[in-house]
Amino acid sequence: MDTDLARAWMLAVAESIEADRERLSRLDAEIGDGDHGTNMHRGFSAVREALDGVDSPSASTVLVKTGTTLISRVGGASGPLYGTVFRTVGKQLGAGDSDVAELAAALSAGRDDVCRLGSAQVGDKTMVDALSPAVDALTAADPAGGLGPATRAAAEAAEKGAESTIPLQARKGRASYLGERSAGHLDPGAASTALIFRALADVAR
Ligand code: ADP
Ligand code: MG
Ligand code: MG
Repeated sequence: MDTDLARAWMLAVAESIEADRERLSRLDAEIGDGDHGTNMHRGFSAVREALDGVDSPSASTVLVKTGTTLISRVGGASGPLYGTVFRTVGKQLGAGDSDVAELAAALSAGRDDVCRLGSAQVGDKTMVDALSPAVDALTAADPAGGLGPATRAAAEAAEKGAESTIPLQARKGRASYLGERSAGHLDPGAASTALIFRALADVAR
C-alpha cells in the first residue's frame, strides 16, 4: 500500500458510504437508533476534507489522519471504534510502502485494538464479525499474488461475515438492549465494514 492507494481507498469509502448511507441508517433503525449512515457519512465527509490538508503524506499519515478525524467527528460508537482501527493500521504501516503481508499484519493489530476497546469478539453481532474474517482472509492470501486478489478475498470474507450477523443476538452496543429481538437483522457496523473492504478491493485491483 502506497500513499496514492491509501488516499484512493479512503475516498472510495467516502463515496460508497455516501451512496449507502440510507441503507446503513435503515439497518440501524431496525436494531439501534437509526444514525449509522449519518454518522459514517459525517465522518468520511470530514475525512475527505482532512486528507486535502495532509502534508508530507504517506499511506501511514493518510490512515492515521483518517482515524483521528473519525474519532473527533463521529459522535456514535462507530467513530472511536473505526477511528482506532485506522489509526492503528496507519501507525503499524510505518513510513514506506507496504506489501500484502505488512497490510495484513497492520489490519490484524487494528482488529486487536478494536476488540479490546469494544470488548467485543466474533459472534457478538458487531463490525468485528466482518472485520475479523476479512483480516484472516488477507493474512491467508498468497503474498505473491499481490494486493488485488488478496483484497478481493478480504472483501468477500467481510461480506460473508456481515451476512453471518443476521441470525445472531447482539451482545455489544445499542442492539444488545433488544436482547433476542436483535436476531434476524443485519448489523449496520458489519455492513459498513463490508463496504470498507469492498472499496479497498475496488481500488487495489
Ligand atoms: P451508535 O450505536 O452509538 O448509534 P453507530 O450507529 O454509528 O453508533 O454504530 C453502531 C455499530 O457500532 C454497531 O452496528 C456495531 O457494529 C458497532 N458497535 C457498537 N458497539 C460495539 C462494541 N462494543 N464493539 C464493537 N463494535 C461495536
Ligand atoms: Mg446508531
Ligand atoms: Mg447513535
